[in-house]
Amino acid sequence: MDIGKERALELKEVSVNYGLVPVLKQVTLHVDGGEIVTLLGANGAGKTTTLKAIYGLIPVKEGNILFFGDSIKGFPPYRLVDLGICLVTEEKTIFAPMTVMDNLILGAYSRQNREERKRNFEIVFKLFPILKDRLKQRAGTLSGGEQQMLALGRVLMSNPRFLLLDEPSLGLAPLIVGEMMKAISGLREKGLSLFLVEQNARAALKIANRGYVMAGGRIVTEGSAMELLSDERIRSAYLGGRRAVCF
Ligand code: ATP
Repeated sequence: MDIGKERALELKEVSVNYGLVPVLKQVTLHVDGGEIVTLLGANGAGKTTTLKAIYGLIPVKEGNILFFGDSIKGFPPYRLVDLGICLVTEEKTIFAPMTVMDNLILGAYSRQNREERKRNFEIVFKLFPILKDRLKQRAGTLSGGEQQMLALGRVLMSNPRFLLLDEPSLGLAPLIVGEMMKAISGLREKGLSLFLVEQNARAALKIANRGYVMAGGRIVTEGSAMELLSDERIRSAYLGGRRAVCF
């Protein structure tokens, strides 16, 4: 897919409240087809809330959310899954007592035929070969990194077009973070578009095309991954620079 040809996801001046408290304030951003776009920001900036708003888990007070030009505002998750939009959350959403194999089968879209399911298994095993070795193991006994791989693998079994990822590197050892990011980057090559929320700004910007920085529920900076990586304020705030800079 040619990057930038189609606008896959678009948030237009989206505002969200928790009760009476405004949390997202006129958030405008987009992800083009075949892009990885990352949303960065400190704890409490509103990143997870942005994902929840997209995924219909909290009501949008103002603004609109479009998927390939059509409004998806307020769609419940099952309708979004039907459209090919999947969310992988911080809480690794696996079924701990079940085997790796059963977790993956559960992820497969119910209307898939045998061929499609086989193809999706191959995609998952190519990205995460370790899962193939662990098929009969109970998911709850996998390591943290393996569980994260299974959570992503399970979602990939449903043949998504668009992935929303919340902190895929959370709690992973540095070596595994690299592996996970490589796998995520590989998904773009398959034509998926990805919106990636990350605390690990360096890892995210390494694989992203573009990024947004959020503070206090607003988008305060945006740019290409290269621009953000070389922005002194980003370097100071998120990439371990020396001076602390507030957005
Ligand atoms: P982190 O990186 O720590 O996960 P975040 O950028 O994802 O942070 P959010 O989880 O979106 O931040 O939270 C944004 C703000 O909304 C925070 O101030 C948080 O305390 C508040 N908040 C989150 N969930 C709720 C809720 N259910 N009710 C009230 N306030 C909430």
